[in-house]
Amino acid sequence: MDHFLYRNGTLYAEDVAVSEIAAAVGTPFYCYSTATLERHFRLFDSALDPLPHLVCFAMKSNSNQAILKTLARLGAGMDVVSGGEYARAKAAGVPGDRIVFSGVGKTAVEMRTALEGGIRQFNLESEPEMELLSAIAVSMGVVAPVTLRVNPDVDARTHAKIATGKSENKFGIPIARARDVYARAAGLPGLEVIGIDVHIGSQLTDLEPFEQAYLKVADLTAVLRADGHDIRRLDLGGGLGIPYTRSNIAPPLPSDYGDLIKRTVGDLGCEVEIEPGRLISGNAGIMVSAVIYVKNGEGRDFLILDGAMNDLIRPSMYDAHHDIVPVQEPAAGAEQAPVDIVGPVCESGDTFAKQRNMPPLASGDLVAFRSAGAYGAVMSSEYNTRPLIPEVLVNGDQFAVIRSRPTFDEMIARDNIPEWL
Ligand SMILES: *Cc1c(COP(=O)(O)O)cnc(C)c1O
Repeated sequence: MDHFLYRNGTLYAEDVAVSEIAAAVGTPFYCYSTATLERHFRLFDSALDPLPHLVCFAMKSNSNQAILKTLARLGAGMDVVSGGEYARAKAAGVPGDRIVFSGVGKTAVEMRTALEGGIRQFNLESEPEMELLSAIAVSMGVVAPVTLRVNPDVDARTHAKIATGKSENKFGIPIARARDVYARAAGLPGLEVIGIDVHIGSQLTDLEPFEQAYLKVADLTAVLRADGHDIRRLDLGGGLGIPYTRSNIAPPLPSDYGDLIKRTVGDLGCEVEIEPGRLISGNAGIMVSAVIYVKNGEGRDFLILDGAMNDLIRPSMYDAHHDIVPVQEPAAGAEQAPVDIVGPVCESGDTFAKQRNMPPLASGDLVAFRSAGAYGAVMSSEYNTRPLIPEVLVNGDQFAVIRSRPTFDEMIARDNIPEWL
């Protein structure tokens, strides 16, 4: 459920007309709903009650400071995957003991920064990474709390680019080697092994792969405890999918996911962490764009928008579907016709949808891409020297620009001319 609904024939974000925001900030832009973000966070948080738990927002899905603050004030932790994200979490006021550091290639600088600023735990993914963190912690005279990310070798049945839990993927330690690697970690100075971490992929629309993975984690917990490790925290990763279309089968609810967690690992006496990204931020955002031209091609019509692949890359990168709806609600029974919806970038990959049924639209009309709050703005670029588009946050009847559009001068000023030119 989200808070982008038609009222009196026009699309609203909570209590603000999307057309009003467009008039104020120009198109294209991202628009997020506070109520939707809060609702999704609370669904996860309550789904894990009464287990001791922390919901860590996977901020790679949307790392704007205002989004982080909105969630942090509800008690969210953060799952970070880079030194930059760690800095963003701290800047948004998230205490170090609510920040979990994930990622397959943490650098020495990132480790040192997190140990200095405070960290809940590092989720380590390889033996060389264990050795480096051990050496750094020892040199700083501190002890780093760690889990090891195990790769449970389950098929997440999602898009290949976002599946991470098969043995062929680059992530984690093969579960068959876990005992050996845990024994090595426990023997390294400067590390305190506190738990197990697993994350099998993104946009999972079925609970079965989670169940397989979590049952393996439960078995491993028993094995590692018998080996003498004090396993007291389980980080179960993120990955629950969202409905990108209204017509397809609905993904599982956070409450069903919570029940599954309780059923599989709930009686182990561990504190549980989860790292949802997409399910918190995805349907909490839309991208609004204006039609530049309607172009009638040979046997095919094109809607050319002012938004492009550099603003929202998911369709060209993951073949992702986004519902695209007119901001002015079409009259009931309005005729629909198939069109290709494209951006102005000079690549054929700059196509949002092919032969999508749309009501008649004209130059200047606004459309909204639904489910664009996750992996949208964060993956955008300035390809074709198109400025990063603004982000707007709505809260009830108020809205604020939470990242503004740079001017061309600001963009150009980031380049430096060497002295010989
Ligand atoms: C990407 C990622 C997540 C979040 O995935 P979603 O599909 O957005 O929920 C969580 N944990 C890790 C380690 C990730 O890499």
